[in-house]
Amino acid sequence: MPEASQPRKIIHCDCDCFYAAVEMRDNPALATQPIAVGGRAGRRGVVATCNYAAREYGVHSAMATARALRLCPDLIVVPPDFTKYREVALQIRDVFSDFTELVEPLSLDEAFLDVSATKLCQGSATLMAEAIRARIKAEVGITISAGVAPSKFLAKIASDWRKPDGLFVITPDQVDGFVLALPVGKLFGVGKVTEKKLHQLAVKTCGDLRNISLLKLTEHFGVLGRRLFELSRGIDNRPVRIDRRRKSLSVETTFVDDLPDAAACIARLPALFEQLQTRYQNVDDTYRVSRHYLKMRFSDFTSTTVERDLPDGITLEGYQSLCEQAWWRGEQSVRLLGIGLRFSDVITGQESHQYALPFEVG
Ligand SMILES: [Mg+2]
Repeated sequence: MPEASQPRKIIHCDCDCFYAAVEMRDNPALATQPIAVGGRAGRRGVVATCNYAAREYGVHSAMATARALRLCPDLIVVPPDFTKYREVALQIRDVFSDFTELVEPLSLDEAFLDVSATKLCQGSATLMAEAIRARIKAEVGITISAGVAPSKFLAKIASDWRKPDGLFVITPDQVDGFVLALPVGKLFGVGKVTEKKLHQLAVKTCGDLRNISLLKLTEHFGVLGRRLFELSRGIDNRPVRIDRRRKSLSVETTFVDDLPDAAACIARLPALFEQLQTRYQNVDDTYRVSRHYLKMRFSDFTSTTVERDLPDGITLEGYQSLCEQAWWRGEQSVRLLGIGLRFSDVITGQESHQYALPFEVG
């Protein structure tokens, strides 16, 4: 752990229009169209996410689909596929886990990483953020924006600064200048109501906020007053909390040309298996492998995962047998093949489990 006097290195990562990005990745014809992922207009559906083309029409998340369609009549509404988004989220978290154990997920597509103690990339959080972004683009096929700063609230603001597909860095010596000009509405915990109250006190920026005493802020805003006092001075010592540890490790490849049959898939396994073994060497001994699994996505974009206990340890033969089993479920050509390991956690004693959905599938 770094000493208390040393500035921390926090990265906030946030995928760009996550659900929509996954849909555009899987159906490139959608990429140039305004699209929204969400419920249908006729069923009082709501937009969960929309792409940037749709945002130009004023469409945004949480908007009724019917209203979105009035704003943008050509809007393509895609029903959500949460199983797929969760799979992608797990893949993204595996990338994060390669940089630090200190990962605090905020939702399926967003997380804080504390990389203060990470030695990779010469210890540069900026280089790590770039490496994470490049890996997610290459391995997952979607873009992610990142913010680097010495605290959580600034890292989160920074990730939004150059969206989409951007990186913004606030170094420790830039904090003061950055915060000074920051509109108070950007502060963590300041919603519309508080913002209006602050504007009535002639407070627009954090610079203005600094002119108000702690006493007066507490009078007006209660507990939030102290936070405002601290945040306006760039002070935010909230730690990155580890909610979850690595649940799995996996590698996968999307093929340029779909593979025609099970034999062709099996022929690709040795290369994947070698990659998996290399990655597995970096996993510390606080994890125990409980199962192995194989994921297959077919040319019609449906996918299946077969998993099993490991009676004979981690072997190529084990994956070959999973591969055959998976192929017979689809009996068609294959565009993506992935293999992985699930862990039981020696520290918490927990078996790996699925991540909770951010909201219910309706
Ligand atoms: Mg996002």
